[in-house]
Amino acid sequence: MDQLKNYINGEWKSSSSTQNLSVHNPATQELIAKVPYGPDTAKDVNKVIEYAHQAYLEWKDIPAMKRVQPLFKMKTLLENHKEEIAKLITSECGKTYTESLGEIQRAIENIEVACGTYVMNQSEFSENIASGIDEFMIRQPLGVCVCITPFNFPGMIPFWFLPYAIATGNSFILKSSEKVPTTMQYVFDLIHNNIDLPKGILNLVHGGKESVDAMLQHPDVKAVSFVGSTNVAKYIYSEGAKYGKRVQAQGGAKNPIVIMPDADIEMTTKIITDSVYGCAGQRCLAASLVITIGDDKNYKEALVEAAKSRKVGYGMEAGIEMGPVISKESKTRIEELIQKGLSEGANFLVDGTQKKVSGYENGHFLYPSILENIPLGKEFISTEIFGPVMSLLNFKSLEDSIQFINSGRYGNMACIFTQDGLSARKFRNEAMAGNIGINVGVAAPVAQFPFSGWKDSFFGDLHAQGRHGIEFYTQTKVVIERWPKNWSRTF
Ligand code: NAD
Repeated sequence: MDQLKNYINGEWKSSSSTQNLSVHNPATQELIAKVPYGPDTAKDVNKVIEYAHQAYLEWKDIPAMKRVQPLFKMKTLLENHKEEIAKLITSECGKTYTESLGEIQRAIENIEVACGTYVMNQSEFSENIASGIDEFMIRQPLGVCVCITPFNFPGMIPFWFLPYAIATGNSFILKSSEKVPTTMQYVFDLIHNNIDLPKGILNLVHGGKESVDAMLQHPDVKAVSFVGSTNVAKYIYSEGAKYGKRVQAQGGAKNPIVIMPDADIEMTTKIITDSVYGCAGQRCLAASLVITIGDDKNYKEALVEAAKSRKVGYGMEAGIEMGPVISKESKTRIEELIQKGLSEGANFLVDGTQKKVSGYENGHFLYPSILENIPLGKEFISTEIFGPVMSLLNFKSLEDSIQFINSGRYGNMACIFTQDGLSARKFRNEAMAGNIGINVGVAAPVAQFPFSGWKDSFFGDLHAQGRHGIEFYTQTKVVIERWPKNWSRTF
């Protein structure tokens, strides 16, 4: 199998690195790609930045209305090829085919919103701020913008950034996750073959830390968008700032959902179970901490039943509701974290470990687990699991649960299930998270709203998507103009 190529300046080019990482289908173990890796990938990055910088110098002067035209075509291209893209996502990432299709829909919606960039990016104008003097603010592009993405949404997350960056007049370099490199390889090839974009505006490079460091250190890179784990997000944020770049870095999560005693059991159980186990728990907006208030007997029984009945298997097969986790390392990490929780005093309500999927015995499968009696303030309760594990907690009151939620490290999402408006209102006002769900299990903002968390779930200021995307990828310039009626007047 040949090594994947980089897409640089409108052409597919071999990497400078002869070192590879092998990528396997997490369900079947089939080898699906060899991705360039190691120190020499930095050479590829330095080369692509040069081309991207040259491309930006021309692209920035193209009228905004013209710059969005390729995005209209990109939307249609993704719609027409969503089945092939979804198959690739499932084969490299493990989620079900239906989940993969949903992911592409989210990507398309971001392209649609970015198509309106020339409307959202209009200048602000004040006439006669003093006699004969007008003042206005325009937004101009930054230059070369880079984007570093995680494994869990290979088809969607690049589109939180890509369409906004190029619509506003920048050039863009994507470094996709080395764990899932084939989806964007395919999408970039579609773009290459079908869309007439100037060379060097869209680029794709592979690699890991070495590629990223080369991006962070290069003077021609002006903005860095990152999505991934919190420790790396913090590193990207501080390192990017050290080299004078604009940075938005989205990190990990440990999302709570509160179930009030008046919540509808059937609806709540269905939605919460989908939130915890959808994408095998590998969503930054997956619920992890499920918190009941007061008597929880009925909810507990319903959640246990729902966890046990979830159909686990290869995501391409009909009826499968949950695929494998991404890798052997990830499965081992999750199992070790569960063991840590048990050693700290928790117990299983449902044990989803040590099970095999028939026909896919070597796949990285975990079945849904539920732990209860989890001690607070210890490692298990405060660590991101990123797997199909529910931590069931019980508090006496909504106030106690909010206090617990706000004491946590992360702030990506917090949800409440209730039929009481006052409880919902209190929760939405007081819970410290960037995304709040009220009777919603995955509070994922649609493309016109900003996407990001609070606390250790996000480092930066302007978030992904929508108007924030446009603001992130542009810098403001204020112009003050004097046009006196009488030039000879003495000032
Ligand atoms: P990761 O942090 O391991 O990798 C993300 C990217 O960073 C990859 O492209 C990788 O090559 C690069 N990278 C890894 N280590 C690096 C280092 N030391 N220096 C520089 N670059 C490095 O994350 P992952 O395992 O691919 O994804 C899962 C994580 O992403 C979870 O923590 C999840 O919560 C988070 N996530 C967050 C959001 C959000 O919106 N907040 C969305 C999706 C995923």
